[in-house]
Amino acid sequence: MFENTLQIRKLMLDHTSRCNLMCPQCGRVSKDQKLNPKMPITDLTLNDYKILLEPFKNNQLETIIHCGNFGDVIASPTFDKTLLYSLDYTDKIRIETNGSARKPTWWNELAQKGKDKLHVVFSIDGLKDTNHLYRIGSNFDKIIANATAYINAGGKAEWQFIEFEHNYHQIEEAEKLAKDLGFKNFTVKYTARFQNTNKKEIKTRKGNIVKNKESHIKKDYDNILSIYKDFDEYVANTDITCKFKKDKRLFIDMEMRLWPCCWFGGPKYFSHNTKQWESFKHFLNLYGEDFNDMRKHGWNVLQHEFFQTYLEQSWNNPNDKYKRIYTCGRTCGQKYEFSSGYGKNWNTKELSYEENRL
Ligand code: SF4
Ligand code: SF4
Repeated sequence: MFENTLQIRKLMLDHTSRCNLMCPQCGRVSKDQKLNPKMPITDLTLNDYKILLEPFKNNQLETIIHCGNFGDVIASPTFDKTLLYSLDYTDKIRIETNGSARKPTWWNELAQKGKDKLHVVFSIDGLKDTNHLYRIGSNFDKIIANATAYINAGGKAEWQFIEFEHNYHQIEEAEKLAKDLGFKNFTVKYTARFQNTNKKEIKTRKGNIVKNKESHIKKDYDNILSIYKDFDEYVANTDITCKFKKDKRLFIDMEMRLWPCCWFGGPKYFSHNTKQWESFKHFLNLYGEDFNDMRKHGWNVLQHEFFQTYLEQSWNNPNDKYKRIYTCGRTCGQKYEFSSGYGKNWNTKELSYEENRL
């Protein structure tokens, strides 16, 4: 996938599996809306960052992205130290957070520490009467107080809004509020959490029913079903273009395992079995469970056959050894945009300044 670390320009981290919320479709929440029992509660440490960032001392990364499958980096007790350490190894740090942990004084200091390198994305799916319907346990007033403290101290902030049926009518109002408060960007995302399932709604831990808004990419889905017998046949046969390779990016999970992308960093810890996990079993049988453990192998993991040969072959030239992995066909197949962060599922606006997507 990458021959050496010189080719990597971005690292995406699932720094922690801690979070103060229980969003119903998050990997940290089981199907019965309890804390996922298969997910270890753990964090990356300063020592881990020393291993991770060592190759980028004289070859600064473009971006470190904190966007976890299982946790919110702001909730981690090791975050303050690792943030300060990582500032010297990258041009930018992007943090995606629900914004409701910590106090305004902490957020004020964060803006000062992060200087021009930090960009915080506040995930706020609605207004005072709706955000908590999906973001279970969140407090809108506290988020706004935290975001305001951060922005007023000079921090760059983006408001990211996942659209559901219950908040769709508030997009314009939220955008106006974002502008008034000094957010630099406003992004609307269609959630992928209901993709490829028959579910259109889910009951949260607090008993709210959260409904998906009808997908605007339904036509693309119908189109592949007119070509292939079903979605799985599409996944097995579609041409694949790897999003993370194109973006020169890799993913590290909260146990310091290196994965080719964020979509690979989830199935090992999901509370339920998935088609993804079933297809992972093949390469895990070949290579063992710890082949990608950077605490054991450091950056030598990148030289492992999995990263050097398996992935590339499995995408468009699979065979019995290098079998196609379900996650790749599903996520990076060319005819259907599965992920919420890409293509038609993503709409970002600059409110007052020029900022490229990271
Ligand atoms: S805020 Fe993020 S990490 Fe926390 S429960 Fe929600 S989706 Fe998961
Ligand atoms: S799912 Fe597969 S093809 Fe897509 S970004 Fe990840 S490794 Fe690359």
